[in-house]
Amino acid sequence: MKPFILLLITALVGPLTWAACPPAVSKSILFENDSGYSAEWTFKNSAELRLRADLSEPAYLDYAAWVKEHTPLTAIGLLQNHLNILIRANLPTLANNIQKVQDIISGKIGDIHPLTCLESVPLLEFLKVVDLREHSMEFIASVYTHAEDSKIIGDFYFTGDATSVGAAESQIALEKREELHRSGWVFESIYHNHPFVFRDGFTDIGGNLAPSEADLNYFLRIAPQTAIISNGIDSLVLQNDEFLKLKN
Ligand SMILES: [Zn+2]
Repeated sequence: MKPFILLLITALVGPLTWAACPPAVSKSILFENDSGYSAEWTFKNSAELRLRADLSEPAYLDYAAWVKEHTPLTAIGLLQNHLNILIRANLPTLANNIQKVQDIISGKIGDIHPLTCLESVPLLEFLKVVDLREHSMEFIASVYTHAEDSKIIGDFYFTGDATSVGAAESQIALEKREELHRSGWVFESIYHNHPFVFRDGFTDIGGNLAPSEADLNYFLRIAPQTAIISNGIDSLVLQNDEFLKLKN
């Protein structure tokens, strides 16, 4: 495209249209071993980051196509599916779990939205380490803000298929949290994924956005402003005061 035409278009539609998602910022590797790495991104906070991610990365498109191929269910449908499995199990010990999932489905607690640009950053990174179509694994990341800046610190490790055990934060991520706290950064979100499990023998296909009891205990312990759980297509955001509500 000729420069003057590009200038004209930019003048007509404004610069926001050209904002890249994911944001074009380089990551720094904080720690690395044979199974993966912990990384950090720093970028300017912007409203676009909170908008729906319109991604064209081949790894993401392959992932999204794979999900679509295996289930027509939306985030609510997946929660409903999970709820039906809990109800069918007919165990008194699951009463809290059932209530929790019902509260999320009804919209009483939490907010479900399509994957945002900000949320796509750790997800795209994890897809470089783990093919989620082959392995049901979880990443964990934290979001921090300070004045006009945002930071994401994430752990991206090949942990082996452990569908019932979530990813634990790395030592370096915990140290970074302390350091950022001391320098006035706000701990905005803790964020992890719930992978799909489209395999024979699994009645629950995963990808449901409800936090586990272990998730809730962790959120309460580290106390971010919000917690995000994503299946890579949609995400659930819980506010800090909702962590405890879901436990009761
Ligand atoms: Zn979880």
